[in-house]
Amino acid sequence: MTRAGAGLDTPVMRQYLAMKEKVRDAVLFFRMGDFYEVFFEDAELAARELGLTLTTRDKGKVDPVPMAGVPHHAVEGYIARLVGRGYRVAVCDQVGDPAQSKGLVARRMTEIVTPGTTLSDALLTETRNNFVAACLPAADHVGFAAADVSTGEFLVEDLPADGWRDAVALIPIAEWVVSEGAEDRARDRSRATVRRPPAWFDPARGRELLTGHFGEASLGAAAVLDLGPALGAGGALLQYLREVRGPELRHLVRVRRFGSSEFMVLDAATVRNLELTRPLHEGETGTTLLSVLDHTVTSLGARRLRTWVERPLVRRAAIVERLDAVSELLQRPDETEALVETMRRVRDLERLLGKAAAGRAGPRHLRALGESALATPELRERLGAFRAALLTSLAAGVQDLAPLGRKLDSALADQPPLAAGDGGVFRSGWNADLDELRDRARGGKEWIARLQEDERARTGIPSLKVGFNKIFGYYIEVTSAHQEKVPDRYLRKQTLVHAERYITPELKEEEERILGAEERLRALEIELFSGLVRDVVAEASSIQEVADAVGTADALASFARAAREGRYARPEIVEEPVLALSESRHPVLERLLPAGEFVPNDCDLDARSRQIAIITGPNMAGKSTFLRQTGLIAILAQMGSFVPAASARLGVVDRVFTRVGASDNIARGQSTFLVEMEETSAILAGATGRSLVLLDEIGRGTSTYDGLSIAWAVTEHLHDRAGGRPRTLFATHYHELTVLPERLSRAVNLTVLVKEWNGKVVFLRRIVEGAADRSYGIHVAELAGLPGAVVDRAREILQALEDGRFASGGGSPSSQLTLFEPSDGGLLSELRTLEPEAMTPLEALSLLTRWKRRYGNGGP
Ligand code: ADP
Ligand code: MG
Repeated sequence: MTRAGAGLDTPVMRQYLAMKEKVRDAVLFFRMGDFYEVFFEDAELAARELGLTLTTRDKGKVDPVPMAGVPHHAVEGYIARLVGRGYRVAVCDQVGDPAQSKGLVARRMTEIVTPGTTLSDALLTETRNNFVAACLPAADHVGFAAADVSTGEFLVEDLPADGWRDAVALIPIAEWVVSEGAEDRARDRSRATVRRPPAWFDPARGRELLTGHFGEASLGAAAVLDLGPALGAGGALLQYLREVRGPELRHLVRVRRFGSSEFMVLDAATVRNLELTRPLHEGETGTTLLSVLDHTVTSLGARRLRTWVERPLVRRAAIVERLDAVSELLQRPDETEALVETMRRVRDLERLLGKAAAGRAGPRHLRALGESALATPELRERLGAFRAALLTSLAAGVQDLAPLGRKLDSALADQPPLAAGDGGVFRSGWNADLDELRDRARGGKEWIARLQEDERARTGIPSLKVGFNKIFGYYIEVTSAHQEKVPDRYLRKQTLVHAERYITPELKEEEERILGAEERLRALEIELFSGLVRDVVAEASSIQEVADAVGTADALASFARAAREGRYARPEIVEEPVLALSESRHPVLERLLPAGEFVPNDCDLDARSRQIAIITGPNMAGKSTFLRQTGLIAILAQMGSFVPAASARLGVVDRVFTRVGASDNIARGQSTFLVEMEETSAILAGATGRSLVLLDEIGRGTSTYDGLSIAWAVTEHLHDRAGGRPRTLFATHYHELTVLPERLSRAVNLTVLVKEWNGKVVFLRRIVEGAADRSYGIHVAELAGLPGAVVDRAREILQALEDGRFASGGGSPSSQLTLFEPSDGGLLSELRTLEPEAMTPLEALSLLTRWKRRYGNGGP
């Protein structure tokens, strides 16, 4: 391979710099000969990120240009790696034949690959969407738009300015487009943030652009035109997509409201704590809620299910609609099985269509799409067998794509090659011109094959060969030894060391026919193939509707299967703010433990009477598990799934808040307490009378009295606050909090039973009403083998602490405030016994000085 040269002030370098000017925020891969070269900062970046060797152009000169390169055949992999790390890459290719062109080779930007707009299989995950998003902050709203180019989804919404990040936290956004002017905190760190002029974000312009692309009718149907700043974000996003992916974006036909008010808000911390879609510890598998639920048989279904897990519903009717569908699927296992079998035939229609629309589909993609299309009549029938409203409406959405399927099937060979133009894309008998050209090409090749035999016989030269090379085409080769037998009609073309090569007029004529036929064959194949692609894209909206139906049906069938295998119950969704579970289990843990080992528990919360449950019990008793399973069950129910419990009654939850204690993420170090308090204040600010709050230890990260006081005050606040009374589970190691139910009418105590057996602690995992024995920790320590003297001393200290500093309260509500004697180091008691009238002024002054010394700096 050769590496073409270029100096800094050369035509090619000027060409490079002009290109780079257009894609300043991308790494430019510039084709030069057999290499793609990157220059300047791009070269340094590529050397760092890809481990390429950094060299320089014009080593001798004063300012050598840093350069790095990759061989052209390996470029895809390098690009994927960079884009996978959040960079944008622009590819500049040579156009026209460099061997033919004199002087500067013409070059053209052929592709821009970015994290959020890529269609590369190497960068996309089948079971996950991949979005590029734009946002436009306005007065009290943030305009938001997101597109998944690979599936054709386009979402817009005006989100409330506070909390909009939580609302979008779960969308897999690989790239952001923001206005150049906008200050931007969180995303500055991300490489994959591109900035575009503020004018791009103008809502009026956005409205025009969106209308132009999606059409007035579909914008109206999706209630998009009522939006404010979201139109600006949507317009900017559309312009960005055009910049990167070209003007057409033909499969981007589905515009929708993101509909934040339709969904439960799950902030990032909660999603992480509850391990909804990602394990808490990297590398663990099978520990997420998604992994337990996912029995989908299509990529469409897998993506849909993930979205559902991340966005549970909040409208009762919508939840019940899904539950009804799951019920029927469960009750009719044969029909369900048949439906699932049919769905197995449906490939990733969204992404296949995406490839087709972007002109990146090959024959095999269309083949897969065609096979899926052929399944649509059966799919429609199978879905039509059900009566649940949701399933019926899905059936109605399944357009009959069999005609398209038949067209593709009759055209495409059973096992077509990767690319059109490779030959063998189409079946014979499908297109007469194609067949004729094929025959001609094949006939010509046979003629040439025969020629060798014929000429050997005619000339009597046994070693005579017919060969082909790119420069001379077909030739007849005769070794030097037989030159005298060469007939006159042979025309000498080339002399080799031991042989001469000849042509004949007939040979050239035949050659022309063959090559002409082959070239035309190739061209025709490409032309016919793009015709098929057009046919596919013409059906874009029907294909997407089918994809939608399959995604939903597959996710519902997956729920049914999870319910059957896990013996889940249908939750009752009610209006009252209750959360009543009997024999509930943790959906993931019960599967990880040996069968029968998980101990089911009841939960009985009601915002009106049993709003807050304070759960005490020793470490490892099962408190955290109980909290998590309760949260998971609420989320499951609102996804429309059955739940791991004997029975469940649930008043719709608008948000699940979790706060997981310091003990559960020790690794985070010093800032833990601050983080804990930030999370706690976010809960107090955001929780409503419809929320579910799961507090797993508060106040661990600070001194005991500090922590206890905060925990206490937080509990009171949740109980009495004006902003509504969230159902709350509070697991705590502060036994002191167990007196709260005496003071707070809607608080109750729960505890986890533990017993002693053969001198060992046995965790019974049963949650019961009541408070844990306050010396339980010491008891457990004793059982664990702590020396008797230490245990005895601990009991003594506990007693002293209780007697001296803890008054068990009761009585007037305001006594909460004086619950603890201030830890003043004895100042108060000294004051009590003091007799000022018996002191001299000097004594008084020196006492004051002593106190100042002792307490003056903020305490003993
Ligand atoms: P705590 O928060 O009280 O310290 P955890 O909830 O972390 O306790 O539970 C400790 C361990 O006990 C868990 O890892 C789990 O293996 C087991 N466990 C918890 N709850 C149950 C249960 N209901 N049935 C069986 N095992 C359980
Ligand atoms: Mg715990």
